[in-house]
Amino acid sequence: MKILQKGFNYSQDGPGNRLVYHLQGCNFRCKWCSNPESMNADGSDAKIYTVDELLDEAKRSRMMFFDGGGVTFTGGECALQHDELIELLKKLQDEGINTAIETNASSPHLMKIAENVDYLITDFKHYDTDIHKKWIGVGNEAVKANLEKIFASGRQLHIRIPVIKNINDNPHGFVDYFKRFDTANTVFEFLAYHEFGKDKWTQEYEITDGFVSDETITEFKNLFVANGLNVTAT
Ligand code: SF4
Repeated sequence: MKILQKGFNYSQDGPGNRLVYHLQGCNFRCKWCSNPESMNADGSDAKIYTVDELLDEAKRSRMMFFDGGGVTFTGGECALQHDELIELLKKLQDEGINTAIETNASSPHLMKIAENVDYLITDFKHYDTDIHKKWIGVGNEAVKANLEKIFASGRQLHIRIPVIKNINDNPHGFVDYFKRFDTANTVFEFLAYHEFGKDKWTQEYEITDGFVSDETITEFKNLFVANGLNVTAT
């Protein structure tokens, strides 16, 4: 598997203390991406590991998985490496190790991958497919199709919405979309725009005025809660 970076963090990418692998390659081109070096599938900074090498590393790290922790795969887009990812997720679960992924939710393999995921995190960037295409490079049809399958299945889901001024900072369209579904087992999180990855962009960075206020994030939380949607603390 192509891994860009790895390390531990606490409760940011799933429950407890987790060993987080950033997989190389992404099929989206979000203009605010904080890991632009992860987009190219042939990224020269990535290292190659076998499934069993990563499994051994996780088994050796068991002592670190406190407070319900385990292993998380993110990116880039982890689902691009779906065959090896599924194999590794199964082996981790067979070892009793908690598994999580963070995904942009566009993969046709997502439902298969999710069968071996204990904690599923997806991004959702925009409900309007034309605006999604403008800022991300592709429409949102595949994302919506996957989310709607997950809602219908009733499984656990954690949706993260990056909130960016003048791109998606009006919560009403999001609520109008989500309230059509049974989201009883879904929690929503709102991530205020930041520029931590801006200096890593080698192409022009096109977001010029993306920061949102605390009031905007509060407006998202309040409107979601008022419509019966579950909100989690950021
Ligand atoms: S989906 Fe994530 S990794 Fe891919 S381009 Fe967008 S922000 Fe970057």
